[in-house]
Order: sequence, then structure tokens, then C-alpha cells
Amino acid sequence: RQQRYRSLREEPSRTLDGTAIGLQMNAGLLVDLPQLAESGAEGIGLFRTELQFMVASTMPRASDQERLYRAVLEAAGERPVTFRTLDVGGDKLLPYLSHTPEENPALGYRAMRLALDRPGLLRTQIRALLKAASGRQIRVMYPMVTDLSEVHAARALISRELKLLARFGHEPPASLKIGAMLEVPSLLYQLDPLMRELDFVSIGSNDLFQFFFAVDRGNANVANRFDDLSVVFLRALRDVARAGHRHDVPVSLCGEMAGRPLSAMALIGLGFRNISMAPPSIGPVKAMLLGLDADALARELDALLDDPSEAGSARGVLQEFAERH
Ligand code: PEP
Ligand code: MG
Repeated sequence: RQQRYRSLREEPSRTLDGTAIGLQMNAGLLVDLPQLAESGAEGIGLFRTELQFMVASTMPRASDQERLYRAVLEAAGERPVTFRTLDVGGDKLLPYLSHTPEENPALGYRAMRLALDRPGLLRTQIRALLKAASGRQIRVMYPMVTDLSEVHAARALISRELKLLARFGHEPPASLKIGAMLEVPSLLYQLDPLMRELDFVSIGSNDLFQFFFAVDRGNANVANRFDDLSVVFLRALRDVARAGHRHDVPVSLCGEMAGRPLSAMALIGLGFRNISMAPPSIGPVKAMLLGLDADALARELDALLDDPSEAGSARGVLQEFAERH
């Protein structure tokens, strides 16, 4: 099977009816980079920058951050890399960063909430990213965005850093795209303004699922009670994909469901044309999509989601579709 997936590496990733699907990989450390070539990923759809911070015993220096980001961009070559800014706090605590114990860490002082309050931290990281990307293309993505004001504040911070770097004679990135993760349901009700503010959006389905059903993603007793192929969850995902199409803003999904072939199939049926997953999932997902009639699936899935009386899991319907085709 490994052999078979390897032989698919050079195959263009296209559905049976000719729709191109971008398959990217998730990464977080230098050791992940050889997987780019091994998996045949088209780029890094999610680089979790907090991993460098989590494996360190002291705060990584600006120069260490810049060195890592440069190495990642160099390894990726022409392939795009999406760096997610620090997603710490909550359950990802840094021993060298003071914190107050929280009763609900997932809903707590984390990610952008913390980063925007500690501009020293975020500014250093943004500066390291911009310097590493000098003369290259770079994509920067904010985690756990809840409100558009966070996007505005982060954009202002980037603009200030770009001006500062220019003043010191640094060459700016050849292209800079700014995006946000959609992981908090509040964004589902401001999709149009959100799309107007961003160059791209990536759904963090692990967290979106957790907040959507109010189930701790790390607690199997409750997390397994709901299905990420539920009609109601798929409707939310489809709304995001459609808003992206309306505004011509690329929408991707980088949570674990992207790496499960049946879920990846559902995502394509919902209109996703780009997904990012752990490298070992790329082979199996590609094998699935090469035989997929995306149009037929979209029609069946739309009919199901458009039926207001449907609220259960779409898993059975999707499995049946997969078997029939
Ligand atoms: C997600 O929430 O789906 C995601 C990709 O981010 P993380 O798993 O790092 O929270
Ligand atoms: Mg997340």
C-alpha cells in the first residue's frame, strides 16, 4: 500500500471529473520538512509555529525564530508555506511564560487574545517571519480569531513592522498574504466582512468542532458523541466554502478531518478545493480523489444539506456514495 501511495506522488491531484484539488501538509518543526518531498504535498498549509516554543526551555530568540522560518521557506522552495502565528495559552502552556490557572483553558487566554496583549511576543515573531521571507512569498495566518477587531489589530502590527524593516533597508517579502483560521463559531455569522478583510481563510476543524458542539476535543467521552460528518456541521463548513467562492477568497481546511479519506471526500463535495493534513494522509486522500466524481457528490450532498428536516449524520450517505462509486 505504501508503495502504491508513493507511485501516486507525481500524479496530478485531480478528481475523476477533472477538478484540481490542492493537497498540502501540516508541519511544525524542521524534522517535518523532508515529508514535503516524500508526500508530494503542494505546500505547507499549516506550519504550527508554537512547536518551536513548546520544545524550548526558554523563549526562542528572535534570531532562532528567523532561522527556523528561513529554513522552512528554503526547504519549501516554490511551494507556498502558511505560517500560523503563535497558538499558545490554554492547554499549550509555555513554562517560561507566566500564566494564571484557568478553569476553561480552551476558552481562555490563548492564541490571538494573548498575542495581541503581548505585542512584544507577536511583534518579534512577525518581524522574524518578514525578515526570513525577504524577497520570497509568505503567508501569515492568525489562530483562534473570534472577532474582526483582532484581524485589524494584527494587520496594523504587520504594517508597522513592514515600515520599520523598510526604514532599516530590509527587502520586503515578494508577496505577503494574510489569513485567519476559522475555529470559533462567532465568525460563521460575519463571513462576508471577514472575507473582505483577508487574503485566505483556513478552517481549524478540530477547534471549530469543539466549539460548535461544546465538546472538549481531548475528552473521548464527549468528543465521540458527535460526528464531524453531521449534517449541521457540514452546513457550517459549506457556508464558509461558499462565502469564499463569493468573495474569491481561497478557503482551506487544516484540521484532522482533512486527512480522513471519507471526510476529505465530503469536503470536496462541499466545495473545498484545497485541504491540508498530516503528511501520511496525503497518499490515501489522493487515492480517494482520483476516483471521485465531485459533481455527482456535490449534488447528493447539497440535496441532503438543503433538506431542513435532516439533522443527523451524513456518514451513512457518504459511505454509500463511496461504495457505489
Ligand atoms: C484545528 O483546530 O483544527 C487546528 C488545525 O489547529 P490545532 O489542531 O493546532 O488547534
Ligand atoms: Mg486549532
